[in-house]
Formats: sequence, structure tokens, C-alpha cells
Amino acid sequence: MNRYDYNGQVAVVTGGSSGIGLETVKLLLDCGAKVALCARNANRLESVHSVLCRDYGEERVLSRAFSVLDADATRGFAVEVEKRFERCDLLVNNAGQGRQSTFADTSDEDWRAEYELKIFSQVHPIRAFMPMLRAANGAIVAVNSLLAYQPEPHMVCTSSARAGVQNLLKSLSTEFAPDVRVNSILIGLVSSGQWTRRFAERQDQSISREEWYRALALRKGIPLGRLGDPQEAAHAIAFLGSRGASYITGAQIEVSGGLSRHI
Ligand code: NDP
Repeated sequence: MNRYDYNGQVAVVTGGSSGIGLETVKLLLDCGAKVALCARNANRLESVHSVLCRDYGEERVLSRAFSVLDADATRGFAVEVEKRFERCDLLVNNAGQGRQSTFADTSDEDWRAEYELKIFSQVHPIRAFMPMLRAANGAIVAVNSLLAYQPEPHMVCTSSARAGVQNLLKSLSTEFAPDVRVNSILIGLVSSGQWTRRFAERQDQSISREEWYRALALRKGIPLGRLGDPQEAAHAIAFLGSRGASYITGAQIEVSGGLSRHI
């Protein structure tokens, strides 16, 4: 199901080696884009890179291992993308992870680390790719969480940092208009990296993946009765980044199976 035309366009996906990021990379390649991706773990990125080159051709893929919290490395990545692909039409800020902790067990260091991750995983790539995005009349799509609007006490610092990210994106959508559109998706529970890890650490190891996920969806009260697939998040990203969304900026799409309680 490839409904977005990315022919002649270049997309950058941070955190592109797993889960939502990887499915976004594949969907954008399927839709005709050239794609640059990054992640920290060089080994995992290298295996993903080999598969992508095999399936889509190495001239369409650029992969670099670094953390988006490293401003110099992020700038260097933008320079390489420009040298190799000469443009950037879409920046998908996806890199990151959630943090489970209540107020009682979140240290000052945890608060700083969480805010650094959430804010600078937006700031560094946006600053580095902005000149190319402006030149291309491009778009930014941030992958954020429903926790921004619907905080959970057991994820207190990630919820509050994510609310800050939504606020930041709204400001940027105004500051960058009309040149660059800025939108986000709000994830509920998608069965990728962090849930795979939590499943592996489950207390009762005899429970199957399907049973564990079904029970989780029931416990969370997800109206669609299941966790989302990373591909379903990728489709919302590809839509918001496409020319089909040309009159949408400062907006967000929930990819949560109906989990939100607000209207
Ligand atoms: P995954 O763990 O499957 O993928 C995360 C990706 O980000 C990996 O490629 C990881 O690679 C990369 N990454 C993490 N930190 C950095 C960093 N500092 N610099 C560069 N790359 C980084 O997670 P998901 O696909 O589940 O999550 C994608 C995004 O969606 C995340 O931002 C997450 O917080 C958000 N989200 C997901 C939810 C879910 O239910 N899945 C719910 C709410 C939000 P590496 O470790 O090698 O760096």
C-alpha cells in the first residue's frame, strides 16, 4: 500500500534501524525516496543497511552510526547527506525511547537525561537540516507519544518532556511557515523496540507474545483491542511528510487505536 509519491525526494530518518523508524525508512524507499538514516548501534545499523541496499539499491541509502544528542555528529551527517543526495525534503525525528519511572524514583540526573533526549533529539537534527529543508520547501515529522496529552504517573518525566516537545513543535510550525511544515504523530502502544524488550523481561516467561500483547491491550483499554504495528505508524508519517499533506502544519495525528480520552 504505497500511496505517497516521494520520487525525486530525499528523506532523513533518525533512529532508522528498528521499529517505527525502520518501517518508515522502508515505506519511504518503497514510495521512491532516497533515504538517509542514523542510529547509535553500528552493528545493528550495518545489518539493516546491507538489507536495504540489497532490496533498494545502495545508491538510494545512506546510513551513519551516531547519537542525535551529539550536535557535531548530527551536523556532519547533514553535510554528508547534502554531498551525497544534494537535498533534504523530509526530516523524521524518530530517535529515542521512553522512560518508566514515578516521581519518587526519578533522580535529578534522570530528569536531565530525559529532557536532553526529548528536546535535543528535535533541536539538533532540525538545526542541521533546516537550510536544506527550507530550500526544498520540505517537512518535519516528529514521532512523539500520546503521553504528551495524556500523562501517566508511572512515566512521569517522559510524559512531561513529551508535552514540552509538542509545545516546541507548535512554535516551530509558525516560525518555519510557509517554508517548512512541522507536524507530529502521537503513538499509543506500538509493538516495536521498547515493548519487545518489556515482553522479553515479563515476569511469567511461559506467556506467549500474543497472549502478553492481548492482555496488555485489554489492561490499557485500547478500543481497537491490540497494539499497533510499526508499519501503521510509518503510514501516518509518510502521509504527513508527503505533498498530499501540503496544507497541514502544526498538527498531530494519533496512532493509538483510540486510546486517547480527550476529544
Ligand atoms: P525502537 O527501540 O524499536 O527504535 C528506536 C530507534 O532509535 C532505534 O533505531 C535506536 O537505535 C534509535 N535511537 C535511540 N536513541 C538514539 C539516539 N540518541 N540517537 C540516534 N538514534 C537513536 O523504538 P520504537 O520504534 O518503538 O520507537 C520509535 C520512537 O517512537 C521513539 O522515539 C519512541 O520513544 C517513540 N514512541 C514509541 C512508542 C511505542 O509504543 N513503541 C510509544 C510512544 C513513543 P540505537 O539504539 O542503535 O541508537
